[in-house]
Amino acid sequence: MDSCIFCKIVRGEIPANKVFENDRIVAFRDLNPVAPTHILIIPREHIASVSAATADHEATLGALLLAARTIAAEQGLEANGYRLVINTGNDAGQTVFHIHVHLLAGRYLEWPPG
Ligand code: IMP
Repeated sequence: MDSCIFCKIVRGEIPANKVFENDRIVAFRDLNPVAPTHILIIPREHIASVSAATADHEATLGALLLAARTIAAEQGLEANGYRLVINTGNDAGQTVFHIHVHLLAGRYLEWPPG
C-alpha cells in the first residue's frame, strides 16, 4: 500500500527505531509510548486489521504472536509480564490500518483498559 505509514516503515522509506526483523515481521518502538516498553509488531504484508484477515493470512498472524514472544524474551520482559493489544476498528481506537500488535510492559497495566 503506497500511502500506508507502516508499509513505508517496512520499505525503509521513513525511519523507525527497529528492535526486531525477520522474513515476515518488523517491530519498532512506538513514537508515543504509553508504557516504559511500547513496541509495535507488524507484518511486512499489508493487512488492514484483524477484521480484514483471511485464512490466507494464517501463517502471518501466527508469526506476529511468535515474534511478540521472541521480542518479549529478548527485552527481558518475561519475569514481570507484558500485554499484547490489537486495536481493531474505530471503537477500539485503531488509528493505523495496517494490523499491528502493541507490546506493552514496564509498569503495572490496569484492567480493564479505558
Ligand atoms: P493504533 O491506535 O492501535 O492504531 O496504534 C497506532 C500506533 O502507531 C500509535 O500508538 C502511534 O503512536 C503509533 N505510530 C504512528 N505512527 C508511527 C511511526 O511512524 N512510528 C512509530 N509509531 C507510530
